[in-house]
Amino acid sequence: MVEWGSRPAGGRRGILMGRVVRRIPNGVVLACLGVAAAVVGVALSYTALGGQFDNNLYDWFFRLSPARGGPMQAAVLAIDDRTLLETGGVRGMRRALALALERVAAVKPAAVAVDLTLADEGDEAEDAALAAAFAKTPGLVLACEMLADGSGWQDPIGRFRAHAAGVGHVGALPGPYDEINRRIPLERVAGKDRRWAMSLEVLRVVRGGGAVDSSPFDVAAGGVVIRSRWDEGRPMRVRYRDPAAMIRVPVLEVLRDPAAAAKLSGKVVFAGVTAQSAMSDRLFTPLSVGMSMPGVEIHAQAFETMARGDFLEDAPPAYGLLLALGVGLALAAVFSLLDGWQAWSAAAALLLAVHVLPYAAFTRGVVLAPAGIYAPAWLAGLACGSWKYFVVRRRLRESEAATARYQQAFHFVAHEMRTPLTAIQGSSELITRYKLPEEKQKELGRMINAESKRLARMITTFLDVEKLTAGQMELRRSQFELRELVDTCVERARPLSERKNIALNCCELPAVSLDGDRELLEYAVYNLVTNAIKYSPAGTEVRIFAETRRGALRLSVRDQGIGMSADEVKSIFTKFYRTKKAIASGETGTGIGLSIVDQIVSHHGGRIDVESEPDKGSCFTVELPAVTIH
Ligand code: ADP
Repeated sequence: MVEWGSRPAGGRRGILMGRVVRRIPNGVVLACLGVAAAVVGVALSYTALGGQFDNNLYDWFFRLSPARGGPMQAAVLAIDDRTLLETGGVRGMRRALALALERVAAVKPAAVAVDLTLADEGDEAEDAALAAAFAKTPGLVLACEMLADGSGWQDPIGRFRAHAAGVGHVGALPGPYDEINRRIPLERVAGKDRRWAMSLEVLRVVRGGGAVDSSPFDVAAGGVVIRSRWDEGRPMRVRYRDPAAMIRVPVLEVLRDPAAAAKLSGKVVFAGVTAQSAMSDRLFTPLSVGMSMPGVEIHAQAFETMARGDFLEDAPPAYGLLLALGVGLALAAVFSLLDGWQAWSAAAALLLAVHVLPYAAFTRGVVLAPAGIYAPAWLAGLACGSWKYFVVRRRLRESEAATARYQQAFHFVAHEMRTPLTAIQGSSELITRYKLPEEKQKELGRMINAESKRLARMITTFLDVEKLTAGQMELRRSQFELRELVDTCVERARPLSERKNIALNCCELPAVSLDGDRELLEYAVYNLVTNAIKYSPAGTEVRIFAETRRGALRLSVRDQGIGMSADEVKSIFTKFYRTKKAIASGETGTGIGLSIVDQIVSHHGGRIDVESEPDKGSCFTVELPAVTIH
């Protein structure tokens, strides 16, 4: 079929541009979109919003997937509100603790960590009592705190420190957006003085007292290796267990009933302030419901995490990026390989899997930042999905337009072929029905032959124009005389002009040879001549003449017909356009002929000029380059 779509502006350039666009395969476009969206998504996940989202989801996972059960090795010797109230508050704390620790030491705990800053001298008698209690305490670990300016440490005074098997810092790492304490720093350095976390010191002491080993990637104490990077400040996620599972013995209880200390026998005891009044030493944890957790319990929980090896490790950032890129590419592949509901279902399944992944990883002790996967996945899904949607819509529109064009073309072809077919049908009927004289029979036979040839030529022409338009065909060039071409057209058009009583005159033509596709040029000239006859009233003249100008041939067909306004002339090469007067004239037409003529002439490197005036007539001039003039 003929490609009836209008020729893009700029002709060949348009066709070329069309080809360039088609050369980028859908899969490549989708892959680029998927990767770009994934990268943007990863960048977004690093914003404060992404961080908050990650934290919230982490806490949710935390509550959904509680730490392993079993009895806890850590226990708390609590300086609670009642203890403070009844032992003289902070001032009487050392004395009370000293007495309680004496009793705890007697029941042989595995170790005792004291989460109190004992950096200053107190009452001599109280300090002496506390030092004496420390001397009897097995596996004593004391606390140190970093000075506010980070220049050094507030260490316990010498008389206490002398009895300590270790000194550890009691810092925490509350979250940057919500102050929830999910991690503790295993190492802190003030100046050049490095201290390990108190909980780690306790682990070291409990597990034989060897040194803490460290590499840039991990820390090892007492046979437990904790993966924690030096360049990230050596954080460790605390796998908090239900606070209700922790044995908590108030100092006051031990003071009143020495037998109460028995609950701490064999335990790793963390002694410290749990009083509500000591707000500064309390932090919220992922398990907190309205109630914050005392610092001493956070250290006890951190020790428990290490002792049980129940770690939650962050996946390296590179994994997150690779995963995001993988998801982006997978979504691109889905939309590139599948269509319709299959593509959308596969994309939805992939998104679902992506949403479950961080939780699945969490249950296996790996923390994947959810925002770093969700944001890339959604963005890639949206980008690839929208692209696919719009491409499909565009294709649908294109195919609808193509169908409409083919229908119009079909009607046109059917109509154009009707004329020769009618002639063939009529003549053959005459021959078969009536006994005609031999001469008449021969004439009708010749007519059938000529019209069949014309039909065949018409089909060839349509097919050729289609191929030319699609850029699939070279012109079948040959050299021929202009005069021959014009004569053929005039002879074929003469019956039409005679029927309308129009004089069809051909002036003396210059002797030139043309180099081009004879069939197509014949079609073009014949079209101009028949148009001139169709759109002229009886008793007028259609004149064909030609001249050569600077090596080019200018062949004109002039009529004295209905003519056209300047505005109408601008549109006559557009497919299916017909002037009002042409429609009113009663002449059948489709408005396609001139657009084909235009294509044929421009494929020959020529052009068409039109001069016309309403009711006066028109003159169509075809200019073809490079002719041989004899
Ligand atoms: P068709 O003749 O089948 O309608 P064409 O593409 O050959 O289609 O011509 C397009 C329109 O240009 C015609 O419908 C007519 O309005 C106008 N036209 C073409 N040739 C002439 C002419 N010689 N005189 C006046 N109008 C013309």
